[in-house]
Amino acid sequence: MTKVHNFSAGPCILPQEVLKKASEAVINFNNLNLSLIEISHRSKDFVEVMDNATSLVKGVLNVPDGYQVVYLGGGASLGFLISAMNFMKQGGKGAYINTGTWANKAIKEAGLLGNVDVIASSKENNFNYIPKSYNVPEDADYLHYTSNNTIFGTQFKSIPETDKMLICDMSSDIFSKPIDVSKFDLIYAGAQKNLGPAGSTLYIIKEESLGLTGRVIPSMLDLQIHIAKESMFNTPPVFPIYVNMLTLEWLKNLGGVEKMGQLNRAKADLLYTEIDRNPLFEGFAKTEDRSDMNVTFNLTDNSHKERFDLLWKAANINGLNGHRSVGGYRASIYNALPIESVQVLVDVMKQLNT
Ligand code: PMP
Repeated sequence: MTKVHNFSAGPCILPQEVLKKASEAVINFNNLNLSLIEISHRSKDFVEVMDNATSLVKGVLNVPDGYQVVYLGGGASLGFLISAMNFMKQGGKGAYINTGTWANKAIKEAGLLGNVDVIASSKENNFNYIPKSYNVPEDADYLHYTSNNTIFGTQFKSIPETDKMLICDMSSDIFSKPIDVSKFDLIYAGAQKNLGPAGSTLYIIKEESLGLTGRVIPSMLDLQIHIAKESMFNTPPVFPIYVNMLTLEWLKNLGGVEKMGQLNRAKADLLYTEIDRNPLFEGFAKTEDRSDMNVTFNLTDNSHKERFDLLWKAANINGLNGHRSVGGYRASIYNALPIESVQVLVDVMKQLNT
């Protein structure tokens, strides 16, 4: 098979060994002569998968006592609503930092339930930076932010300070580096970047922060129910959860999030150095807010576009086109993308300049 350098934004590259093991389990899981996807989710073999997939999250992220981990369906898009449902008091208010598309969608869903205060936004500059100054209103129930904007290529470099509850959509940078989970009341993340295939969403929840809203929460949106049922209130997405488990095992064996953070920094440095050095390219995001996961950049002169596109496609690079709201290029360099692939892209960029 020809090696493809997969810079897709999500669903995205997963480790080869994970894909291999996952494909084997689809045919014959645990030597049961049955497929993983044709056994009961309540069977001993699958319950073990769920337990492992949950405890690996706790181990890898050093999740403190008092927190629960659940896997649900619905993507992070349902997380926008679930977070507000479970944390915004009846008649209460959520404070939001608007860093573009995904934050915007979270704001819209929360607005269906109550008051939303957008306390900072980088909209006036097409979201090319992370707003740094804001005040969380006294009457807000929580502060919500998106740690990494997958489309614009911006990333919070530190956790916002607040004495309110803190909620984060970490879909596109969870497991990319160590995080202090104890600062958060809720972390949610669609799995299809650093964790596994699309179809499962990870929630890390501070249990004592639940049950305070005074609202009636439909069962499927109620995190307390999902915690009590250990992610099995309804049939869970068994295959995605199995792949999540394999990816977390891969990550742990590799040295965990500490090591992953170093590898990701090295990849991002390599690519941003070339963007800054090469007069034919310019970065989209402000330097101090650049993402280590999604590198957004443009050509300084679009007359080179045809040649550049031919060059990277000939180098077996996939998924480099920017999102339509930004244009240009986006190289997503998630955990499973090797630095060798980044080097191939950098070589192509250098070649354009000769
Ligand atoms: N938040 C972020 C930061 C994302 O990147 C995405 C998807 N790319 C979403 C939320 C929405 O996720 P889903 O498609 O799983 O609902």
